[in-house]
Amino acid sequence: MKKENKEIYNKCNCNKEKAKKALKLLNEQEIENMIQEDGKAELVCQFCNQKYIFTKEELQNIRENN
Ligand SMILES: [Zn+2]
Repeated sequence: MKKENKEIYNKCNCNKEKAKKALKLLNEQEIENMIQEDGKAELVCQFCNQKYIFTKEELQNIRENN
């Protein structure tokens, strides 16, 4: 059982591209708020706790390509 759990943990295949897709699900106003308030966005994978940081420029790109 322990081994199985470990394999699942190791199999987390999140990456920045996937985090970006999650951000694209937000509406323009939400992204705009993050740019205004923080100048960046932080996303943490709920499975492996990997943190992904998006800069203001990246957020603007995401917003524009929506
Ligand atoms: Zn992950």
